[in-house]
Amino acid sequence: MERTFIAVKPDGVQRSITNKIIAKFEEKGFKLSAIKMVNANLEMLTEHYEEHKDKPFFADIVKFMTSGPILAMCWEGKDVVKQGRKLLGATNPLNADLGTIRGDYGLDMGRNVCHGSDSVESAERELKIWFSEGEIVSYKKDEEAWLYE
Ligand code: GDP
Ligand code: MG
Repeated sequence: MERTFIAVKPDGVQRSITNKIIAKFEEKGFKLSAIKMVNANLEMLTEHYEEHKDKPFFADIVKFMTSGPILAMCWEGKDVVKQGRKLLGATNPLNADLGTIRGDYGLDMGRNVCHGSDSVESAERELKIWFSEGEIVSYKKDEEAWLYE
């Protein structure tokens, strides 16, 4: 089954809306297979945001992402990477549709509440940064019979 890395950023944790993000993924039908609070460090963030490490806003991302704990999660299910990006909405909350996480809860590009992997390859790469394989739990849910044909 496909899996993705979803993280509630420090703003989402401080604003007590982690439950809203979890609810979106649960209600859609995805399965939570790992979850923990993490104080990220520079090394983890440099790996995680590898594609942005030479961008002018990289220092701002690091400052923000180390400003408080992050809720790191692994979610599983059919097309969860693409579906997860849809649940998050556009990177800039101004362009994110209402009904999406960033559309409903964000205002600023640098405070957009939630991270979601952008491809299956990124997801696997990112999960390795944030979780050890033993922390990702494999289990079956009876509701799967009602979610999948
Ligand atoms: P994402 O995959 O939708 O999260 O977007 P990106 O991978 O392009 O960027 C990673 C994160 O960096 C985004 O979620 C934003 O929080 C932040 N970011 C991206 N572009 C900018 C920018 O131009 N300025 C600032 N301040 N932050 C940005
Ligand atoms: Mg990205």
